[in-house]
Amino acid sequence: MIQLEAVAKSYGKTVALQPLTLDVPRGETTVLLGPSGCGKSTLLRIIIGLVVPDSGRVLIDGRPLTAASLLEERRRMGYVIQEGGLFPHLTAYDNASLVARHLGWSEAKIEARVGELTALTQLPSATMERFPSALSGGQRQRVSLIRALMLDPDILLLDEPLGALDPLIRADLQEDLRRIFAVLRKTVVIVTHDIGEAGFLGDAVVMLRDGLILQRGALEELVRAPADPFVSRFIAAQRLPAYVPTLS
Ligand code: ADP
Repeated sequence: MIQLEAVAKSYGKTVALQPLTLDVPRGETTVLLGPSGCGKSTLLRIIIGLVVPDSGRVLIDGRPLTAASLLEERRRMGYVIQEGGLFPHLTAYDNASLVARHLGWSEAKIEARVGELTALTQLPSATMERFPSALSGGQRQRVSLIRALMLDPDILLLDEPLGALDPLIRADLQEDLRRIFAVLRKTVVIVTHDIGEAGFLGDAVVMLRDGLILQRGALEELVRAPADPFVSRFIAAQRLPAYVPTLS
């Protein structure tokens, strides 16, 4: 569904991504895992066209992403960032419906879609009347998810969506995200530096370091047969999740 072909990006002398090639399969959840600064967010921003690579190209469904096709392709992608990125002066409902309204959807259609998505994300509909400052971190991320899903995109890109949440709320949202990904069967790319989260949510894990892919596979494969000593070090540095069968 998404192909990156020798995509590279530098900021001045900082190399964010070395020429990197990656295929993201349709309907699966691919996790970008790696330490801070390894290029995860840059990779996601390149997919959605917020960052233009210095070289290489991105194909969505086999079609190259170009300046001309960008806007249309972006409507097929939902994007959630760590702090949610909601507009503070709009209610949750208006945040979620902004683009749909811009595209000329009727109020009835917007209301019906928001209703479907509040049910899916288990957010009480009254919460949608609040401003972001009156929402908890977890609620804000649910609203961001609703906004991202509003146009029923084929692709969902999530940049450390749970990074700022406390452990209990984070665990709840992990459960919900996994259920939502399974129900919707969208092509999901999610960034995290948390191994447990990667294993829990991902069909495949892509481990990055210094703008390079070190290894790609199920988390079990990374644990069992690390392709690089850094993979083992990165995994060993975090508490290992009990549900990784090879570890029990
Ligand atoms: P990650 O998401 O894995 O933490 P990023 O993709 O944000 O990594 O960053 C990769 C590298 O590129 C880092 O060294 C970061 O400082 C640098 N970088 C990212 N965005 C910019 C930018 N807009 N300007 C300058 N340097 C940047």
